[in-house]
Amino acid sequence: MDARRIEADTWVLVFHKGDDPVSLLEGFAREQGLTAASFTAIGAFRGAVLGYFDRDRREYDEIPVEEQVEVLSLLGDVAVGEGEPKVHAHAVLGRRDGSTVGGHLLRGEVWPTLELVLRAAPAHLRKRRDPETGLALIDLSA
Ligand code: ZN
Repeated sequence: MDARRIEADTWVLVFHKGDDPVSLLEGFAREQGLTAASFTAIGAFRGAVLGYFDRDRREYDEIPVEEQVEVLSLLGDVAVGEGEPKVHAHAVLGRRDGSTVGGHLLRGEVWPTLELVLRAAPAHLRKRRDPETGLALIDLSA
């Protein structure tokens, strides 16, 4: 992954073959000390694991995507949970026949590129564990 700051609060991140954008973006946010940000990205994956939150099990069902797909839309935010920046991202992925699959992005394997624009905010967004779901959700009062 390469990063270039294009404005005071904006970076362009270019991910390369084999990169997992979720873990690399969390590392970048940690290095830069980002506590609130949002991002959009397009590109392609050679595989990914999406999630669908199962309310009864309170866990993500995994949706494996084991084919080359276009990253038609990848949207997300960065907020602090348990003292560390956490990425929350959703993706819509396009298959060869034009059909799509989408969900919560657990991990992706970039191929050949993913172009991401990250905008940081001079603020702190904190996540709190929601007792009903067990998920860490952004709490604007925190
Ligand atoms: Zn989600």
